[in-house]
Amino acid sequence: MTSLLITNIGELVTWDSERPVLRDAALVVEHGKVTWFGDRTKAPDADAVRDVGGAAVIPGFVDSHTHLVFAGDRSAEFEARMSGRPYEAGGIRTTVAATRAATDEQLAANVARHLAQMRALGTTTVEIKSGYGLTVHDEARSLAVARQATEETTFLGAHVVPADIDVAGYVDLVTGPMLEACAPYARWIDVFCEDGAFGADESRTVLAAGAAAGLQPRVHANQLGPGPGVQVAAEAGAAAADHCTHLDDADVAALADTGVVAGLLPGVEFSTRSPYPDARRLIDAGVTVALATDCNPGSSYTSSMPFCIALAVREMGMTPLEALWSATKGGAFSLRRDDVGHLAVGAKADLVVLDAPSHVHLAYRPGVPLAAPLTS
Ligand SMILES: [Zn+2]
Repeated sequence: MTSLLITNIGELVTWDSERPVLRDAALVVEHGKVTWFGDRTKAPDADAVRDVGGAAVIPGFVDSHTHLVFAGDRSAEFEARMSGRPYEAGGIRTTVAATRAATDEQLAANVARHLAQMRALGTTTVEIKSGYGLTVHDEARSLAVARQATEETTFLGAHVVPADIDVAGYVDLVTGPMLEACAPYARWIDVFCEDGAFGADESRTVLAAGAAAGLQPRVHANQLGPGPGVQVAAEAGAAAADHCTHLDDADVAALADTGVVAGLLPGVEFSTRSPYPDARRLIDAGVTVALATDCNPGSSYTSSMPFCIALAVREMGMTPLEALWSATKGGAFSLRRDDVGHLAVGAKADLVVLDAPSHVHLAYRPGVPLAAPLTS
């Protein structure tokens, strides 16, 4: 079989510039790529035909921000937070200790388990960061595990400063031997630029070292409070500044002017019971917005892009169509990919069929597993 016609599509979302959303449509896949789409009645012949019975078909979700290489969980911490009880133990250090203690096989099995969950919910492209090893050995093996699962791997040695070293010494390690060991497995360099983590100058140093090693920059910015993260991302020509919860007008202008994608991660605000980022303000200013899960065991343990879409629509002022764009094409912009996140001719055939007649149902029916990749 070389060509497959998918027909009787009630609503087809392609993000093609001419016809981004079509009704009563069909689409042809050949050799893993979209070769034709249009009105169902005008579809060409194909070697095989699949009738989806009026369902909506959308591009697979592009989850541009996850921390899937970890061991253990922090459900007790979440329970305490949701119960209004103080919780002193561990935090991120709990995850670092569990990750260091896990074998490569255990880490890889955990990544595979989460990727299977993601795929079952319609995600077809995933970025994965390191950042729970924090030693040369543990960061490098975290990235080696991530690289087995995706091309979109990010070195985040500069996630948090370990207890046994000062910031300056740790930045030297991250930009020296750790970078050297990790760069072969990474496409991206990332830094957690925030009060209590890495400051503006330290973040610039990390990003510059990464760039010199051939890695492209992205930044954790302005999550916990106002700060220099977005400006550092703009200066560095980063692909994305992720979180963007606390922005001033200059930050919004910098994102709009430079084209740095604002990655919004509403699972974090949900899981930490914090105010959501203002997506409406960013979109109205012309900023490119991506939605991602930030899947991690501490602040956002969801692997569901549809859940993030529902939050973005309900809590962040996005329309259902804007949220879907940000979860697909926006994620592709964040990863500088033009082959995923859309279904125009030439795109990868990462098709997701909804058990629903339109994309609106993703937010209208939160928590219901409506999205599944088309399997051949
Ligand atoms: Zn993150």
